[in-house]
Amino acid sequence: MAKKKSVSTVDILSKTKKVHSSVQKDSLSEAINSPAPAEASLDHIVTPVPAAETLPQPRRSIAFIGSECYPFIKTGGLGDVMYALPRTLAKLNCDVKVILPRYKCIPQKWQEKMIYRGAFQMDLCSDGRSFYVGIMEYVWDGVVYDFIDNQEFFSNGNPYTNLIDDIPKFCYFSKAALAALNYMDWIPDIIHCHDWQAALVPVYLRTLFSNTKIGGAKTMLTIHNLRFQGVYNIPTIKYWTGLPDYLFGVDVFKTGADDANMFKAGLAFADMITTVSNTYAGEIQTSFYGEGLDSHLSYHSRKLRGIVNGIDIDQWNPSVDPKLAKGYDVSNVLKNKPQNKLALQEQLGLDKDEGKFVIGLVSRLTDQKGLDLVNAILPALIDGNTQVVVLGTGDPYYESSFRAFEYTYKGSVCSNIMYDEGRAHLIYAGSDALLIPSLFEPCGLTQLIAMRYGTVPIVRETGGLKDTVEPYNQYTGEGNGFTFDWYRTELLLDAINRAKTVYFTDRSNWDKLVERDMNKDVSWENSAKQYRELYLQLRP
Ligand code: ADP
Repeated sequence: MAKKKSVSTVDILSKTKKVHSSVQKDSLSEAINSPAPAEASLDHIVTPVPAAETLPQPRRSIAFIGSECYPFIKTGGLGDVMYALPRTLAKLNCDVKVILPRYKCIPQKWQEKMIYRGAFQMDLCSDGRSFYVGIMEYVWDGVVYDFIDNQEFFSNGNPYTNLIDDIPKFCYFSKAALAALNYMDWIPDIIHCHDWQAALVPVYLRTLFSNTKIGGAKTMLTIHNLRFQGVYNIPTIKYWTGLPDYLFGVDVFKTGADDANMFKAGLAFADMITTVSNTYAGEIQTSFYGEGLDSHLSYHSRKLRGIVNGIDIDQWNPSVDPKLAKGYDVSNVLKNKPQNKLALQEQLGLDKDEGKFVIGLVSRLTDQKGLDLVNAILPALIDGNTQVVVLGTGDPYYESSFRAFEYTYKGSVCSNIMYDEGRAHLIYAGSDALLIPSLFEPCGLTQLIAMRYGTVPIVRETGGLKDTVEPYNQYTGEGNGFTFDWYRTELLLDAINRAKTVYFTDRSNWDKLVERDMNKDVSWENSAKQYRELYLQLRP
């Protein structure tokens, strides 16, 4: 493996950090999760190559730019999307390159597969400081992954740390990604950027890069979660971006009295904005969900679309999932799934009883996920027939409360305060229901995974949860899960009790619900086609 060392930027960064620390207003600590150097085996995944004549025309080239991608680095749903959507697009006659930071915490087994592709120096800051940009490449299953290498920016044990580090890091990354495309002479039709960490790409493209080779590409910016926007004081962002003064007015960067907002600027410059469900596309134009950008988004709503996420149905396939005690598909789910419940109970020290109603919760532990509601009702759930399994990391407040519940209800509640892909798979398979009572949920993937595993979602009707989980209707026998609308404890409890009532008193309808969920199409196929359509609208 050829490898180059980055030039030292330690002095520059540490000097600037001291200045920043006194003015830091915001913190992303809430968003920081243990990264998931996902080691789950992907060996069982074999992607068939579609016949050339079946491919949709014309061929399009897309550069994906984002801050995480399974299996290299993942802290949440963004990582899943960056993995699955490019692979699906590759099967739809798209030439896809994914550009990512080369974090030091990417597991060694992936680092070893990367091949040195080149390196150059790049100006970044307003005083013209120059930084090393290395490109390490890995080609896998029809998708090219290019990792931007700079050890000073990407050497933390976590992709996200705090804004003091993250603002310079993602200014650098957005500019370096464009510069790398020019360097490699790979000029895509579309540059598809994700969340605030890549939001400066459209801004750079239409300003400092407009007269370069890549200047004619079109941009799409996808909002996975509007809560995190990359906001800092104007002088700092002006310094790190090196962008001209005229961009720091209210229509592009400026927010509040004297802050700059990287996401806001990207949304202003992107040719198209997408978010990960139709409902969320509408919600973010309201003050409750808009995180301060509602009027900016309403202003740009003509270029805003919602496309719901899918999941990778090879990665999430209960019939061949090596993490399960017993594989199953829709033909034998009723017989085999309970064996996973027993395995889960045994592994986690819960009372081993197939007849108990097991509720899973796999989530980042933040207030976004409706955990205040869960905390409020959890004691009312423990009735001798119900067990609760939690898997997650995040806010110490929720980590402690779930630990305390496990202590109080030993045998009925198990709190796994950790990030563990393998355990997540067994929880999806071994639970009867999955709880997702989110305050807001742009799309949500866990409800899709749950349905694929025949586990019935219990969700609040917001964002993508509303778009993907049809409420169960006891009269028509339709629907996929149990839902509630207002963010209120008694409504969550009612939804869970409705689920338990069907489970305990109307098992044949419950079983049909399980089978219906397993039959639901939660793949990327449909969504990827919609993205392709949008790419064609941008570049016919
Ligand atoms: P978000 O992106 O807001 O975190 P999503 O529902 O879109 O939520 O995606 C969450 C993804 O992260 C799912 O693939 C879920 O299985 C996974 N996940 C969340 N927490 C954990 C955990 N503690 N261990 C393993 N996987 C987790």
